[in-house]
Amino acid sequence: MKKRKISIIGSTGSIGTQALEVIEKLQDKFEIIALAGGHNRELLDAQAKKFNPRYTVLGEQGLEKICSDKENDIILVACSGKIGLRPTLTAIRNGIDIALANKETLVMAGDIVMAEAKKHGVKIIPVDSEHCAIHQCIKDLSQVDKLIITASGGPFLHKSVDEMKNATVKEALAHPKWNMGKKITVDSATLMNKGLEIIEAHHLFEFDYDDIEVVVHPQSIVHSAIEYKDGSVIAQLGLPSMHIPIQYAISYPERFEGIKSKSFSFSEIARLDFEKPDFDKFPCVKLAYKAGRIGGTMTTCLNAANEEAVFAFLNGKIKLYNIYEIVEKMMSEHNVIQNPTIDEIFAVDKEIREKTIKYLTGLHQ
Ligand code: MG
Repeated sequence: MKKRKISIIGSTGSIGTQALEVIEKLQDKFEIIALAGGHNRELLDAQAKKFNPRYTVLGEQGLEKICSDKENDIILVACSGKIGLRPTLTAIRNGIDIALANKETLVMAGDIVMAEAKKHGVKIIPVDSEHCAIHQCIKDLSQVDKLIITASGGPFLHKSVDEMKNATVKEALAHPKWNMGKKITVDSATLMNKGLEIIEAHHLFEFDYDDIEVVVHPQSIVHSAIEYKDGSVIAQLGLPSMHIPIQYAISYPERFEGIKSKSFSFSEIARLDFEKPDFDKFPCVKLAYKAGRIGGTMTTCLNAANEEAVFAFLNGKIKLYNIYEIVEKMMSEHNVIQNPTIDEIFAVDKEIREKTIKYLTGLHQ
């Protein structure tokens, strides 16, 4: 079989390094065209030595070069933040399939990205465990009634609102199931991460927000499910390891044994629990539904205000619950642009970040 040619944007990050662990086991299946790292030159050099890509790139410059390189069969977009958006669009316009782990791409510009993908016949395969699960469950989208996204509930699931309000950074970073970067771990504590995933699911699978449901599932074994018209529910299960969805996304439609370390055992897991999410305790989910339903630049506003507020929380400047209050305030004051261009999206992103930072500074004077 011909090797699949792949590049990784964000190879030195959490998803990127795990993707290389997957590829290490599948060296006869993949050939690496390029690796792009954020700022960790040492790690990028070590990766280059081990995996022999045709070239490496450090920082934002050079991403466009990788994404215009038609040698690629697929590009894994695993960087975090808005820098993933423009290169992803470039790759799509060059007909290169995308394994997508970057959230901002769909949260900020889902309409544009999905329309371009359709136009150029490009596949967008989600890496995030929930969307990857739904992708695996769906055979015929037109027969599906509802998407059911699972949420672990984060570290505050069974804590009181007061405990959550006074949570320290350390408590918020103690995620029970997944080991991830700091920003996404705080988003998991507020459930904003689930909110962003709802918006992504809306774009990826073209589903109405009314037909996307969230259910809390603390064991993180059922990664998400879909309900067909006739009431049949199909779920995807697996141990909570990002290697599995990463490998699925870069190998699709094939499946390989790859990095799988052990077989799944229902009897070892013994029980699976589900409960209704408490949106009064986790109001960020409601904000995300609201932003998604309004559409246009409102999801960019939600994302930008949230990210700045999370940074302020991580720096000890605000409490966990202030994140919600700040995002709500920025959303209530935002004049939405419907059907925005990419430039308008970036302008709104910049404006909201500056406004949020200014507001946060005002709080401390
Ligand atoms: Mg997820």
